[in-house]
Amino acid sequence: MKTETLVCSTLSAPEATVLMNRAPICDMWNHPLAISITRFKHKSLADFTLNNHVGCSHGCPACYVPEVSARKLRRFLARYAVVDPDCEWGRYQLLRPFRAKEFLASLKAAKYYPAEKLLHGGHRAVMVSTTTDAFAPVCHPDRTRQAELLAYRDATLTQALELIRDRSDLNVRVLTRSNYAMRPGFVELFRSFGQRLMFGTSLPCLNHELVRAYEPRATPPRARLEMLAQARAAGLATFVAVAPVYPDVTDDELREVMTAVGDAGGMTIFLEPLHVRAGNIERIRAGFAGTGITPKLDAFKSAGETVLYAMRVLKGAERIAIETGVADRLHLWPDQELLESAAARKVIPDWDAHTAWLHRCWGRISEWPGSSPAEVAT
Ligand code: SF4
Repeated sequence: MKTETLVCSTLSAPEATVLMNRAPICDMWNHPLAISITRFKHKSLADFTLNNHVGCSHGCPACYVPEVSARKLRRFLARYAVVDPDCEWGRYQLLRPFRAKEFLASLKAAKYYPAEKLLHGGHRAVMVSTTTDAFAPVCHPDRTRQAELLAYRDATLTQALELIRDRSDLNVRVLTRSNYAMRPGFVELFRSFGQRLMFGTSLPCLNHELVRAYEPRATPPRARLEMLAQARAAGLATFVAVAPVYPDVTDDELREVMTAVGDAGGMTIFLEPLHVRAGNIERIRAGFAGTGITPKLDAFKSAGETVLYAMRVLKGAERIAIETGVADRLHLWPDQELLESAAARKVIPDWDAHTAWLHRCWGRISEWPGSSPAEVAT
């Protein structure tokens, strides 16, 4: 692992640097694998979630998840010698054990979850995954133990998916930044769902150096595009999350990625700007050290600047989607907290037109194979 210098909310820079350069923490978590309800308001992604790890070995500096880890799991993570879950994001990965009784109870609860209580356009889908990458590498300092943990992780994920397939009518949405998901065993399993499964990848742009700086341990962007093509060739329905659109991404780069994913046949192209969450701006600054690239973080120097950056990305994407012929598949994710904030009111010139546009974006239902929008409007 390269030497990293990090500034954290709770630690001094030298303390944080010492922490991040320690060996990865990989072990079994204390709570079993289970499906839970998710509250993806305005995203039309999924209604349920399945996360097979706590933590993610990809450790993308911009990731939003450590906010949850830092807030909810700090006490539990301390038992694994995680001192600062936000600062140490990417260093810990704790695998959820599979216990059939608990998993089946969660599957039953999801299957019979009242339709009227579900959010708009979630497709009764279980998303794999939302707070980790289910296919991220398993990193343990001891190779034998690493191989055991990897085999266990893959077997439990397979078992869980087979039970979802065979004991329910729920759909599955797989989203990953790792081409490990294209291993033959997984592809066959995905195919066995037929139209009940969609496969997708997050792909912010095709600029290799930029993506390597922002997502250093994830599969490189062109290989993710190739993974999408492989998935489609294998008969899977696909989608893409052009997310997050980093402030450094140019219009030409956005045009390039939207053309590429349009050609690759993604049924839906989700897109969102980068959000400021927990310590992600500090993590990005630290992550770029030594890359020779200076991230354009001025976009976040005030709330008003952040609003303007988000609107530039979203409106620019709408324009480019028309140019590239993918407007009918574009599904924007404007952030409600930011774009209805007091700061937004100060910098958005026509508030009525703005709110009407926000509600149009939030009301859109994403595509699902074999369904018309009217059928999935729950
Ligand atoms: S792959 Fe996803 S969950 Fe993992 S660190 Fe990156 S953004 Fe976060």
